[in-house]
Amino acid sequence: MNIPRQNLRTPGPTPVPDDIVDAMGTPMIDHRGPEFFELITQATAGLKQVFATQNDLFILTSSGTGGLESLIVNSLSPGDRVLSATAGSFGDRFREMATAYGADVQRLDFEWGDAVDPEAVRTALHDDPGIKAVLVTHNETSTGVTHPLPEISQVVKGEFDKLLLVDAVSSLGCLPLPVDGWNCDLVATASQKGFMIPPGLAFVSVSPAAWEAEAEATMPRFYFDLRAARDYLERGQTPFTPNVALLYGLQSALDKLLEEGMESVYERHADIGRFTREGVKALGLELLVDDESYASNTVTAIKVPEGVDNSRLRSLAHNEENVVLAGGQGKLSNSIFRIGHLGYVSREDIQEVLDALARILPRVGFNPG
Ligand SMILES: *Cc1c(COP(=O)(O)O)cnc(C)c1O
Repeated sequence: MNIPRQNLRTPGPTPVPDDIVDAMGTPMIDHRGPEFFELITQATAGLKQVFATQNDLFILTSSGTGGLESLIVNSLSPGDRVLSATAGSFGDRFREMATAYGADVQRLDFEWGDAVDPEAVRTALHDDPGIKAVLVTHNETSTGVTHPLPEISQVVKGEFDKLLLVDAVSSLGCLPLPVDGWNCDLVATASQKGFMIPPGLAFVSVSPAAWEAEAEATMPRFYFDLRAARDYLERGQTPFTPNVALLYGLQSALDKLLEEGMESVYERHADIGRFTREGVKALGLELLVDDESYASNTVTAIKVPEGVDNSRLRSLAHNEENVVLAGGQGKLSNSIFRIGHLGYVSREDIQEVLDALARILPRVGFNPG
């Protein structure tokens, strides 16, 4: 298949730089041999720097969802009471996973486009002392909202000392998330969002308190058994055959990120987030996010103007401008579209999107402001 260069603005997968593509073509090695030992040991150490953690960290061969599933099944038992704070489709999916494994889930829902309110989390934990763990999504990709994780953690860990499980799939490596500093027990992210590599790896961190929970947890697990991952990692291996090519890519991506410095990476994402929002508003479009101080610096969700056909808008962008936008998810599928701006992305990429929108919008019945 011959696919021309696209301006791929889905919030994952994201574009892969050429040198990372090249790195992934490194010759195959024995995943039980000395070269692999070196590779996984270095990649794990590099990821711990990006996570800003001393906790155990594991690289799993799966998409982000597998990483999230590993957080749940390794720390909880069927019947455990869990508080799930969500304001979008990824938060809902995290909750559904816990439910599927038999957790007794207490729902704390917010409007899609709003942020999780730490005060409501406090009230919920106060009202139900039986809650053992809290599930939260750091950056809700479906709505373009970054929830106030430090404040949520202050309540969950600081005041109530519950287990905190974090979906950081579209934030880690792009937005500040010091895992130890913010006291996050179990955190999962994935390769194809902020890490500039293709889909297929998940990265998870596990705190000492999470290991204590793990010792009692009885949810069924096999492929995602983190105790097995820990035992193997001591020997520089993984329990099952890992995606070696993606690990080469990861090593190359980590070199890039750490060479740039994470503070600079965060500043770059903050800049491009602002640039995107200002550009979109200048076209006369409206953001979904209710309070812009919670606007995500990795993905922007935009309301489809009255009378505009979302799928026509996006297919014109794709077919005529080579700009691949994302639609909405779940109940927002027709009413928003999204621009991903995470990982390997520049202002020029976003300017191209804005220029394309300026040309397309009049043709779908909206006159840019
Ligand atoms: C993309 C994403 C996921 C799902 O990850 P997969 O790699 O598709 O399994 C989960 N949560 C968030 C916040 C995401 O952005």
